[in-house]
Amino acid sequence: MSPRGVVLMYHRLSDGPADPEEGDYVLPPSLFEAQMHWLAARGRQVVSLAALAGGRYEGGAVALTFDDGCDSDATVAGPLLRPLGFPAAFFVNPARVGVEGRASWDQLRALAGEGFAIGSHGLDHTLFDDLVPSELERQIAESKREIEDRLGRKIDALSLPGGSGGERAQRVARDVGYRLVLGSRPGVVRGPAGPGILPRFALRRGHGLAGFQAAVDRRPLFVLRQVLWYRVSQAGRQLFGTRAYGRLRRRWVDRGAPAGRA
Ligand SMILES: [Zn+2]
Repeated sequence: MSPRGVVLMYHRLSDGPADPEEGDYVLPPSLFEAQMHWLAARGRQVVSLAALAGGRYEGGAVALTFDDGCDSDATVAGPLLRPLGFPAAFFVNPARVGVEGRASWDQLRALAGEGFAIGSHGLDHTLFDDLVPSELERQIAESKREIEDRLGRKIDALSLPGGSGGERAQRVARDVGYRLVLGSRPGVVRGPAGPGILPRFALRRGHGLAGFQAAVDRRPLFVLRQVLWYRVSQAGRQLFGTRAYGRLRRRWVDRGAPAGRA
């Protein structure tokens, strides 16, 4: 049987949300540290995206990804992961690099120099869904070129902003030379990840350590709740538009709706 693994998706690591838009996707560094030490204590395999995509992993392996290019990639995640020897991939928007709260090019160069992977998250985090073809291609191709120019290394992974764009974005990404495309649909990876959009589990603050363990162990109830929550989110986005839905969702999650727990 082919091995199964999961890709985890993080955003900012901080004790307080720096930006209300980030809401419950901001994890306290102490929680992230506890999650990583839990993996290390159990000898769980933490692999690069390339290894996962190539099927070179043991069952139960975990890959770590960080979206949005937050400054905590360099100030919190990198320093915590380095001594553990855990690889990770950081997905950045070139137009936001160096602005307040985001990592700088120097910080990204340092992370890349330490062996961490850097990928594209689109030029400026514009969602890909309704873009005309020329703009979609600009977002995907120019972000790759700019990160490659700035870091002096090849970029071959794209994380879809807000999980948007679907197969149309995936095709453009393949055409301009990406080897891996990651989405936000929750799911388990089986064997070599293949050419499709890689599923990921988004970690939220409310998951705590228990929800994290459920994600890593691919517990059926956790997976089901994530899939349902994702479907509700997608439907909400279509119904209310992304911004209005974001506000609604935050109010809902703040009231302790079950979706924030696992
Ligand atoms: Zn994002």
